[in-house]
Amino acid sequence: MTRSASHRASIMAPETALSEIKPKIEFRHVHKHHGALHVIQGVSTTVRAGEVVVICGPSGSGKSTLIRLINGLETISEGEVLVDGIAVSLLRGRALQALRSRIGFVFQQFNLYAHLTAEENVSLAPRRIGGLTKAAARQCALALLERVGLSDKTDAFPHQLSGGQQQRVAIARALALDPDIVLFDEPTSALDPEMIGEVLIVMREVARSGITMVVVTHEMGFARQLADRVLFLDEGEILEEASPERFFLAPSHPRARRFLSQIH
Ligand code: ADP
Ligand code: MG
Repeated sequence: MTRSASHRASIMAPETALSEIKPKIEFRHVHKHHGALHVIQGVSTTVRAGEVVVICGPSGSGKSTLIRLINGLETISEGEVLVDGIAVSLLRGRALQALRSRIGFVFQQFNLYAHLTAEENVSLAPRRIGGLTKAAARQCALALLERVGLSDKTDAFPHQLSGGQQQRVAIARALALDPDIVLFDEPTSALDPEMIGEVLIVMREVARSGITMVVVTHEMGFARQLADRVLFLDEGEILEEASPERFFLAPSHPRARRFLSQIH
């Protein structure tokens, strides 16, 4: 079943429905250069609160760069990225840290701390940034690990976990500060095929919780089922922005058609 932000807005209280209309993330004529490379070439788009937006496109098209601009992991060359109406490029120090604490990030390579257990990986930010006591942070981490189906692995170190389990810990960690946005950068690309499903199940549950999600993925099943919109990026430009139904059935841009024929 495809669900949409508008559907969710309609079942929420009126004041919530109103806030759903406001842009959560806004790209305004964004450019990014890496040296001589013009990696992002004039991207403008808006993500509303509670939306699930999937970004796809060929390798090197700028997908990672684009989502890393949202939490200031990359600096912008020109234009603006706004989160809740505030330009990310203006934020420094504590203000930037405050923004990042509201945005969870899930990386392709999990990036767990190797010397910390699953529970410690998840409770680190609630302790250090959220100011929770060790015991309270542990409770929070245990609840999140249960949510991602890892109650039996709370004291395991990353090397004792499969790739799929590590990525589920990483998702729990991304949710630990109760963010209102979670960014995923190819969360299943480093996984063996048999582990992709377990991570997608967790992502589906997160998507249905109403959090704003921007997901770089080539998992077209996820996109079809859960995305409100699909953005197709090629050479740093959004060539197509459409509902998943339209994007998969009848992509209008030839490059999007070619891309889809290659990944199916
Ligand atoms: P994607 O995630 O779609 O594969 P990226 O955003 O990682 O694309 O990269 C887009 C382009 O920018 C690529 O040509 C890549 O080589 C280049 N690039 C990315 N990061 C850097 C960097 N830190 N320095 C130089 N070039 C970079
Ligand atoms: Mg990438």
